[in-house]
Amino acid sequence: MLTILSLAEKASAYLDDDQVREIKRAYYFAEQAHESQRRRSGEPYVIHPLAVADILTDMRMDYESLIAAMLHDVIEDTGVDKNALAQQFGTTVADLVDGVSKLTAMEFRSKAEAQAENFQKMAMAMANDIRVIIVKLADRLHNMRTIGALKPEKRRRIAKETLEIYAPIANRLGMNTVRMELEDLCFYGTYPMRANRIQAAVKNIRGKREGLVEETRHLIAEHLDIEGLNAQVYGREKHLFSIYQKMRNSQKSFANIMDVFGFRLVVDSVDTCYRVLGAMHALFKPVPGQFKDYIAIPKSNGYQSLHTILIGRHGVPIEVQIRTIEMDEMSSNGIAAHWVYKNNSDGSMSGSHQRARQWVQGLLEIQERTGNSLEFIENVKIDLFPDEVYVFTPKGKILELPQGATAIDFAYAVHTDLGNQCVGCYINRRLSSLSEPLQSGETVRIITSANAQPNPVWLDFVVTGKARSNIRHVLKSHRHNESVALGERLLNKALIGLGSKLEDISEQALNDFLATTGHHNFDYVLEDIGIGNRVAYLTARQLMPEEDTDINAKDKPSNTESNGKALTISGTEGMVMTYAKCCHPIPGDTITGHLSAGKGVVVHTGDCVNIAKIRDDRGELIELRWDETVKGEFLVPIRIAIKHQRGMIATLATKINSLDANIESINAKDVDAYSNQVDIEISVHDRVHLARIMRHIRNIKSVTRIQRVRSTSYKRNNS
Ligand code: MN
Repeated sequence: MLTILSLAEKASAYLDDDQVREIKRAYYFAEQAHESQRRRSGEPYVIHPLAVADILTDMRMDYESLIAAMLHDVIEDTGVDKNALAQQFGTTVADLVDGVSKLTAMEFRSKAEAQAENFQKMAMAMANDIRVIIVKLADRLHNMRTIGALKPEKRRRIAKETLEIYAPIANRLGMNTVRMELEDLCFYGTYPMRANRIQAAVKNIRGKREGLVEETRHLIAEHLDIEGLNAQVYGREKHLFSIYQKMRNSQKSFANIMDVFGFRLVVDSVDTCYRVLGAMHALFKPVPGQFKDYIAIPKSNGYQSLHTILIGRHGVPIEVQIRTIEMDEMSSNGIAAHWVYKNNSDGSMSGSHQRARQWVQGLLEIQERTGNSLEFIENVKIDLFPDEVYVFTPKGKILELPQGATAIDFAYAVHTDLGNQCVGCYINRRLSSLSEPLQSGETVRIITSANAQPNPVWLDFVVTGKARSNIRHVLKSHRHNESVALGERLLNKALIGLGSKLEDISEQALNDFLATTGHHNFDYVLEDIGIGNRVAYLTARQLMPEEDTDINAKDKPSNTESNGKALTISGTEGMVMTYAKCCHPIPGDTITGHLSAGKGVVVHTGDCVNIAKIRDDRGELIELRWDETVKGEFLVPIRIAIKHQRGMIATLATKINSLDANIESINAKDVDAYSNQVDIEISVHDRVHLARIMRHIRNIKSVTRIQRVRSTSYKRNNS
């Protein structure tokens, strides 16, 4: 059992007698201060600070840290104040205890501002003396070890906070042993069932492969011995949380992840590391491209080691880490490992300590420069989690997205429906482009429309798998359905032109035809027609019974017939119907179309210069007319001549918006000193709507002329 005597004995191994005596004195002081308190488990409260000090003793932390650990809850929980502690144990200890108390006093609430403040305090405390955070991590570790005494809801909240805030900080400071234990405890605290299941599976697999592990370990030790190299060979296992993360993130099976054997070789010098590596590569074949030299290039938290993967006996992959004793110590305890050297005679700091210092220093500078807590939290977070951005929902919830994520990724991260119905977004209350990469700290609000559907263009800029797969899925089914529907109408029209109709074609004829196409379903034939990869007229002819075919009709389909058989446009065709950008047809215009491979039907106005050209070149036009119930918004460009006047653009925009039309783009240029030419693209319902808008604009006093821009007139004006 842990007592102050057993702790004192352990500490004597590396601390002076005077220092150990001070630690004991701190223990008795704490025991008295917490006298009336009990832990939730029923034990005397002082057990907790003692256990925290013990964790730090295992890390071989200095005596001031151990004293601070003993006293860390005294200010917060008892009547003793900082001054009293300073008188008893000196100002350094008092400052440490004060720093830990401040960290303890914060609770991480859901509101961004509160979080920012907390982060700030934490980093400030760290900057004063980084031992504050080391003591705090030990405190949190012991609390997590004894979290079972708490109610499930509180347990989950503390586990979440630990996983989001403390485990990453431990990682950043290179304190891997603490980090891994925190992660596993959080995993148990949050998902007890999953944790137990994985643990049982690990136990099971460990029993099964014990022989193979021992055999491999023996082979390695023997080979190194023959080579005259000295190394401690340890078997190594992944911690539960990392197994869980791998299963979740890379969607590998448990067996797949556990199918790797890990060994760690600890040696006396850097030189030996490389020689042992050579020996290992001679013993087992290395997997190409898997060797990593973190000795030459340490990780940002100071971690150093050689990593390689070998193919062992029976083809089992073996992950090997090779490092010195110091590096091994460093990889377990990080910054804490080098605390012992803090008081080097020349005052120099070890590499890891220096790096951790620099990190904290950087945080402090950001804080001083910005003086803005929200910006500060984001900088802290960026530093802790460099590959992610953190953005807020309108209600202040924080969402984590990969670097480069856009509002579309955000929308799909919130909910699939929100993504599918997304039409626009506000970033920090500013109407913004959906393709704009989000920055940490921004608040994103998605504008939705019930009739909206994902735009294929989105695929060019989304970065999350969730957004990508959802967009693809919706597009595929929409596009297919729309193409089939259009293909059916085109084919039927062609059949009618030949004196038949689709429902008159026999099942047998359809199947015979299908057999020649390689498709197994006639819908795919219709889809081909709909997207312009198959000609409706030829398909119709092939479907007609031989004897019914009129030889004279073979040459060319009539495209000038005006027998009311025109294809109707309802505005809801979606992606298989596009409106030509040269003439911008709107309901009310006479229209005609042509089939464009891969695009489906392209609709032009009847008087478009380009459609005349297509008629001359290819002759294959589709007669079209607007459906009576045509719906939607149609883009149309208008050009306005207007006299110079303050605020005229605003006047125009307000007028147009008040008439239920959207401005899609606006462009103004000076014609001369007195007047401007303004090109506006607006979306309207039809010609009547457009006429009403133009009439109202014409009534604005400074407007001298207004016209709809058509392909013909456009050309003339630009030539
Ligand atoms: Mn505590």
